[in-house]
Amino acid sequence: MNNLIKESLTKLKQKNISNPELDLRILLKHASKKNNEIILSNLNVDNIDIVKFKFYLQKRLNREPIAKIINNKSFWKNNFYVNSFVLDPRPETELIIEEVLNIYKNKNSKLKILDIGTGSGCIAISIAKEYKNAFITAIDISKKALEVAEKNLKIHNCDDQIKLKLIDFKNINCKFDLIVSNPPYLTTNQYNNTDPEVKNFEPKLALVGGDDGLKFYKEYSNNLKNLMNKQGYFVCEIGNNQRQNCEEIFQNSGLHLNKIVHDLQGIERILSFSKI
Ligand code: GLN
Repeated sequence: MNNLIKESLTKLKQKNISNPELDLRILLKHASKKNNEIILSNLNVDNIDIVKFKFYLQKRLNREPIAKIINNKSFWKNNFYVNSFVLDPRPETELIIEEVLNIYKNKNSKLKILDIGTGSGCIAISIAKEYKNAFITAIDISKKALEVAEKNLKIHNCDDQIKLKLIDFKNINCKFDLIVSNPPYLTTNQYNNTDPEVKNFEPKLALVGGDDGLKFYKEYSNNLKNLMNKQGYFVCEIGNNQRQNCEEIFQNSGLHLNKIVHDLQGIERILSFSKI
């Protein structure tokens, strides 16, 4: 194995980075002059831009997440542009898409959808690609996040199906068939103890839901029902151990909990509510 590779691996391991080989391969590929497969044991370093590689490696050693370094994260069936102004799409959030597919079996449905706190736009764009006749209003209170969503809309040719709006959810006043959201839900305490990858490189605005993590569910519950059509659904992501509280919050506002979806770790992660 080449010395550069050996040394880099040792450094990553010293920093307790969990998948050093995988990360190293991605960083080498990102710094590669050719589009070759990266095989660590048999790498021709002549094909690597060493200056670039060292720059990326240093970022990773500072615990910057891979997705932020390469400005790309895959989610559902597509790749998305990401930067420090949005949350990297997480695999568990894909369960929102899966649940929507469960609810609406007809892919031609002309659904009117609201995505609250769209961030990179990954949920809205993934749903738009599944339902070609759906129209989605994707909102966020972060202008910088919406710039990222705009970029992703262009990349994925979704301009006709998705309208981005810089607006607080409280100021929305029309009705939708489906509302989806992955709101900030970490408690202040959880946020303070989270990995440096999250704490130092992801927007706090997209992560913390007040001291108890429930701030946004409480806000939503005040007028969510008024934004839903008669047959409307609301599908949202929740944090660890928030199912009971969220169930109560939304049931008190007159919504019915239809389904709890567990993530791959067995954590209650996605809730689906309906109006009737
Ligand atoms: N799952 C994210 C994390 O733990 C939090 C996402 C969110 O607040 N919506 O980093």
